[in-house]
Amino acid sequence: MSAPGQLPHYIGGEFAGPVDGAWLDDIQPATGAVLGRIARGTFQDVNRAVEAAKAALQGPWAGWTLAQRADLCDAIANGIEARAEELARLESQDTGKTITMARNVDIPRAVANFRFFAGAARHQSGDFFEMPDAINYTLRKPVGVVALITPWNLPLYLLSWKTAPALVMGNAVVAKPSELTPMTATALAEIIHEAGAPAGAFNLVHGLGGEAGQALVEHADVNAISFTGGTTTGRMVAATAAPHFKKLSLELGGKNPTLVFADCDFEAAVEGAARAAFLNQGQVCLCGSRLLVERSIENEFTAALVEKAKSMRLGDPDAEDTQLGSLISQDHRDKVEGYVRLAREEGGTILCGGERPSLPAPLDRGAFLQPTVVGGLPSDCRTATEEIFGPVVTVHPFDTEAQAIAMANGVRYGLSASVWTRDLGRAHRVSAALQTGMVWVNTWLHRDLRVPFGGVKESGVGREGGRYSLEFFSEATNVCVKKTP
Ligand code: NAD
Repeated sequence: MSAPGQLPHYIGGEFAGPVDGAWLDDIQPATGAVLGRIARGTFQDVNRAVEAAKAALQGPWAGWTLAQRADLCDAIANGIEARAEELARLESQDTGKTITMARNVDIPRAVANFRFFAGAARHQSGDFFEMPDAINYTLRKPVGVVALITPWNLPLYLLSWKTAPALVMGNAVVAKPSELTPMTATALAEIIHEAGAPAGAFNLVHGLGGEAGQALVEHADVNAISFTGGTTTGRMVAATAAPHFKKLSLELGGKNPTLVFADCDFEAAVEGAARAAFLNQGQVCLCGSRLLVERSIENEFTAALVEKAKSMRLGDPDAEDTQLGSLISQDHRDKVEGYVRLAREEGGTILCGGERPSLPAPLDRGAFLQPTVVGGLPSDCRTATEEIFGPVVTVHPFDTEAQAIAMANGVRYGLSASVWTRDLGRAHRVSAALQTGMVWVNTWLHRDLRVPFGGVKESGVGREGGRYSLEFFSEATNVCVKKTP
């Protein structure tokens, strides 16, 4: 186990401090308090982790059967479940998200991810192609050493989403979580250790993106990189990895439209649009931050959304009835507030929010911001097309279906969209015309772990989920066997 307040690396089955002795502070965004010390990884730490991973691939881990690896994932799921309340508290403290969200979404999903991929791997079928004079079958082998780089908004949720398929397919993992939210990653290393994973199968290196993350991406012996984070970082990761022909999966940013047609179920659409705009303080890559509303209901719809936003309980993330917690950091709040200022400069009207709430100490030192609805902006201005990643939604009216589709597609991102209508024909037509990897109709963020998850355009490359993850974390070798006459 790691010492309380210390967040060391986990390398080759052991918790270890940084080689050069440097640590970072882990800050609680809701209060500004220092929660602990994070190992500040450098190339030396990354190199040790990669060497440990390579050794695991030459050692006992290589001999584990798929059934044994699936059992390991189930044991890890049980370990997370046994510590669920503690993990929810750590996640809430580290991110500023509400304890309710951490309890109901983040931690249960981490359990589900390990259970799901254990089952998916057990039940996957292989490829078989018959020829008149030969048969082909396809082996699935581990890729090797895989780097998993994850962001701060859904820390354990996203780390488990990558770790489970990577382990179940027999790879050796080097994980680099966000330096802003290291706590549940360290807890996961403890759980994986206790579940009996052999040394080196899972390694964790903490540290800054430009140091530990960059060193991991550059490392010549890393065979694949699964990255979730911002588009700018993803571009750097892709440029660094390309000359080495590393296998690459990129889940990047979004500026997702919520399309509301006049024939929608009004109440459900308001509820859905508000959830899409403000869940996790608007810090979900899938958040619907551009609301496109048919002109005939625009005023009524916007008024209802503003009413809902104003009624949301913002404050102590630890209180069970809080609906909106803190943003991830003061720096990030500054960035989001910069966009609120930009919205005004671009001619927008702040219909609600946009201000820091007045909260009692120690929350007065937290990175809180009221949920914000902006009207009156053109749909192609910067505020309406750049990812803000905070509790800010812009509202734009449209007159025709074609106009709505053109506005929805008029951004460089293409992660997800939601469409609210009672007309089934329109729902199918619009879904097919949207340039996004995912579309929800009359719902939002309704997830089946088997379906392809990912984006087009600048929202990423590749898909995660179900067999898509199992394929990414394995290499296919086709064997062609001549039939004997
Ligand atoms: P980020 O890109 O700043 O950081 C993500 C991770 O990359 C962190 O672990 C960071 O330390 C690391 N990193 C930073 N620079 C690096 C480098 N040069 N080399 C290697 N690693 C480096 O993103 P963030 O601010 O942590 O997260 C927010 C972003 O993530 C948003 O843009 C959001 O849309 C996106 N996101 C996307 C998805 C998705 O599934 N598409 C899911 C969640 C978040």
